[in-house]
Amino acid sequence: MGGATEPAVSREGKLLVLEHGVTLPARCVICNKPHSGEPVKMKFIRFGKGGVVDRMVQDALRSGYTGPVTAYVHLCDFHRARKMWVLLICAAVILTGVVGGICTSPKNPNLVSGMFVFFLVSAFLGSWFFMMVLIYNIYLSPTRFEDRVVYLKGAGKAFLDGLGQPKS
Ligand SMILES: [Zn+2]
Repeated sequence: MGGATEPAVSREGKLLVLEHGVTLPARCVICNKPHSGEPVKMKFIRFGKGGVVDRMVQDALRSGYTGPVTAYVHLCDFHRARKMWVLLICAAVILTGVVGGICTSPKNPNLVSGMFVFFLVSAFLGSWFFMMVLIYNIYLSPTRFEDRVVYLKGAGKAFLDGLGQPKS
């Protein structure tokens, strides 16, 4: 593991194993179809109990963890578009919440309407989900980190088979 060579990609059973900074083979990581365009930069952060802030605190305390792992992942048109649609829907929810919130904002702070609260909550939830989709990508989820290597669930079987045998 490690070394001064190019960052590597390999598999361990059904898990995709990525070294920090690696560019994956030019096939869709989900369905193994021909990729489209430039690879997508993906950042993998440790999943843990609690919220994002809690995780950052945990990570800062954990000496073995050396930070997020970044990789450049190819996606086909379909899988690239699906993530974009999810982000667009979130953006629409945020916009609706903000515009609705402005339209229903109370003149008198004692007269907060239910609609105003509803719009505020949708804007908040939309933004939260948008950030989650941006930070934690919706296709590949980390199962564990080792130094600057991440083990990911979610890669397609055909793609993994194309990587050949796991490193010993
Ligand atoms: Zn695909």
